[in-house]
Amino acid sequence: MKNKNRLRIHILLLLVIMLPILFKFYSPILMSWGIRNGIITASTLVFAAWFILSLFLGRSASCGYTCPYGALQEIIGLQILKKKPKSEKADIIRYLVFIGFLIMVSYSILKAGGVKGVDLFASNGNFQLIILVAIFIIAIGLLSVLLGSRAFCRYLCPQGVFLTIGAKLGRKIKIPSLHLKSDQDNCSDCKLCDKFCPVGLNISNMVITNNMDNSNCILCGECIEKCPKKVINYSFRTND
Ligand code: SF4
Ligand code: SF4
Repeated sequence: MKNKNRLRIHILLLLVIMLPILFKFYSPILMSWGIRNGIITASTLVFAAWFILSLFLGRSASCGYTCPYGALQEIIGLQILKKKPKSEKADIIRYLVFIGFLIMVSYSILKAGGVKGVDLFASNGNFQLIILVAIFIIAIGLLSVLLGSRAFCRYLCPQGVFLTIGAKLGRKIKIPSLHLKSDQDNCSDCKLCDKFCPVGLNISNMVITNNMDNSNCILCGECIEKCPKKVINYSFRTND
């Protein structure tokens, strides 16, 4: 498991290095622009694929392993500054942002009057959009400096809420899906797992209360790697 998670950090680093190319394939700004103009962009298709995967893999395949923006925030916040997001009470802000985003998307779809075309790489030659994407990247980087690892994911990202809904839906309709499981009897309450969670969850408490399902968990496996007692592990199963 240790090697597996070292591999994950390398994947995150690669995502950050490739961000100047990857933003063409996935950017919330380009997706929003597409929705507003009735255009299907590569970002919309990537997001649709992530949503389908969330039914089986929760937020692991998207937020945990392939989102370059999440990677940037985690590398800056946790790997470089050793800073976690502080509050677990941030959900209210994220859900309010999500409701605002939902209203904006619904209004935009109605106003656009359906799909007018496909422009996968909408940023090609569109300097206004490229500047907006650049501002977004700088802003989420700064948020991680100020508020800790994955601050944007934790406090603001409306797409994380969509993916959480996908994960919950998968569990509700009893599709076999990825979970965390724990063996609380072996836990020494050393709290090492808490220290390394990139989204700042109180994992030791999750273990003690035997409640390993948390909508903010991105199933990254850092707690699995760091636990010296091998208390936490993945499990692929249907919901009980
Ligand atoms: S790292 Fe392992 S032993 Fe320590 S508190 Fe977390 S689950 Fe318990
Ligand atoms: S609880 Fe574990 S798997 Fe979930 S986000 Fe935190 S470290 Fe990653």
